[in-house]
Amino acid sequence: MDFITTEKKKYTQLEKRLSAVLLFIEDIIKIPLFRCQRCGECILSHTAFICSQRCPKRMRNGPCGGPGVDGSCEVYPDRKCVWIRIHRRARLLGRIALLRRVENIHDWNLEKTSAWWNVVTRRIEPPTLFIRKTKSEKQSHDAA
Ligand code: SF4
Repeated sequence: MDFITTEKKKYTQLEKRLSAVLLFIEDIIKIPLFRCQRCGECILSHTAFICSQRCPKRMRNGPCGGPGVDGSCEVYPDRKCVWIRIHRRARLLGRIALLRRVENIHDWNLEKTSAWWNVVTRRIEPPTLFIRKTKSEKQSHDAA
């Protein structure tokens, strides 16, 4: 599997305009709901619908290794590490399997573009809405 970000199709002028319009609508929905940071490569559905890009280090594949023993962020110790919240919610929603995926290195060219447009134009994968729970996940969910 290739985890390296590959060169994406360049935006045409028309696409830039369409993306800007869609991003405006996306912001209205995703900023208040998820505190979206406008990365353009949305992985919300893989991170239990908590935006991982709220992490000050913009980690996309889990915590950096610096959180305190109390789960505090290394950069802002008064905050909880967003990845701890993601892990808790993923367990609750039975979406832990999606955290085992390895996300590609972020393509900074897509920063502040519309993730919706990037899905339509196949620059990024569509969201994963439904997943099948494994037997052990079902059992641990039932036991909780
Ligand atoms: S587009 Fe990027 S920054 Fe916005 S919610 Fe999705 S993952 Fe977070």
